[in-house]
Amino acid sequence: MKIIKDKLAGSIGAELINKNNILILIHRNPDGDALGAALGLYHFLKSMNKRVRVITPNAYPEFLHWLPGDSEIIQFNIQKERTKDLISDAEIIFHLDFNALSRIRELEELVLANQQAIKVLIDHHPDPEHFADIEISDTRVSSTAELVYYLIHALDSESLKSKDICECLFTGIMTDTGCFSFNSSMPSTWEVVANLLRSGINKDSIFDRVYNNFSASRMKLLGFSLDQKMTVLPEYHAAYISLSREEMKKYDFRTGDSEGFVNFPLSIKGIKFSVLFLEKEKYVKISFRSKGEFAVNEFAQKYFNGGGHRNAAGGESKKNLQETLEEFERLLEEYATKLK
Ligand code: 5GP
Ligand code: MN
Repeated sequence: MKIIKDKLAGSIGAELINKNNILILIHRNPDGDALGAALGLYHFLKSMNKRVRVITPNAYPEFLHWLPGDSEIIQFNIQKERTKDLISDAEIIFHLDFNALSRIRELEELVLANQQAIKVLIDHHPDPEHFADIEISDTRVSSTAELVYYLIHALDSESLKSKDICECLFTGIMTDTGCFSFNSSMPSTWEVVANLLRSGINKDSIFDRVYNNFSASRMKLLGFSLDQKMTVLPEYHAAYISLSREEMKKYDFRTGDSEGFVNFPLSIKGIKFSVLFLEKEKYVKISFRSKGEFAVNEFAQKYFNGGGHRNAAGGESKKNLQETLEEFERLLEEYATKLK
């Protein structure tokens, strides 16, 4: 199966010949895939002597700050004026790991205002908005990092000997497949991983830096969440966890501490829909996960202004935490037959 058509890679290659100022944008609350794909592409473009910047709308978990090139990442929420200038000067803007400009929030307006730049989308979420001049979008692929691998392979396969590039791309694939437990049934994904390992990267060390890097208070918050804050609703094959700001504060909550919490209820026999509600200052952030046919991206889009993949999606609610939970339980009743 050919995932990136040579024509697409070729048109990106052609744009790269004459253009020097390149920007890589990733979605709000970026994860290992967004950051791994962005930094993998960053190192590749740097090796071509391009002027490259990576911009994230906001902060990201501590366990991703070791990625090579991390110190070069610009956070919009901290450096607003600098970000504005960089976006308006960019000649090529890569949009990585998101399918709709609303996922970059305030940056959307700035991107739309730069009508000169060539816009490139590289993503694996369903139904992309067609805002880009060049679109590489494929939902069959494990991760955006895997798509970036194919792009680099098509443009200059020798670059894939770089450990920096390969560490970043491996991290993206590893995190977006839950350590190769989902979205990883295609042999091509494993072939990519095999090739990344050939660069000499140490996968055990990467695993350790990502998954064994938590604080003691995060582990205690996980224990508290499962013991005290998980509601199991066997009649709907569903379970959810909710955490208030006060509870998170008590456990010294840091960005990324709740990563993975939403997956735990899915390991309960019979549970195929799991949800995590986190109370933020102005809204409730919601994570949805499912097993099998139940499409959480549709559910998130319809009721919680969100989206994502069929089995992993996110959204938010402007109601308070209690009202959000009540609304969710009402929706479960409506969905009772679908969940059975
Ligand atoms: P998470 O629950 O880990 O934040 O996100 C799970 C998946 O849903 C990711 O693929 C992410 O890109 C997507 N996602 C999370 N939040 C939102 C959102 O607010 N809107 C949309 N469209 N997708 C989201
Ligand atoms: Mn992804």
